[in-house]
Amino acid sequence: MSLQLKKCPGKDRGSNMLHELSHTAIPTFDKAYGEAALKSVSPDDRLVNVENYELFAHDAEAGCADINDWPS
Ligand SMILES: [Zn+2]
Repeated sequence: MSLQLKKCPGKDRGSNMLHELSHTAIPTFDKAYGEAALKSVSPDDRLVNVENYELFAHDAEAGCADINDWPS
């Protein structure tokens, strides 16, 4: 059995809804936006950065991954 991953589609309204709801439910903060910017966020800030949760949920739901971001 091999793992088949596809390229991630763009974010959608569900992603935006999760983003806004997480600000009140957890709460989370806007430390950085976009996958490229997330690489510069400290480990402590990643725990409260809403974009980390938003992109994880989006990619998990879509069954996709950006293989360029995988560690070598
Ligand atoms: Zn926000």
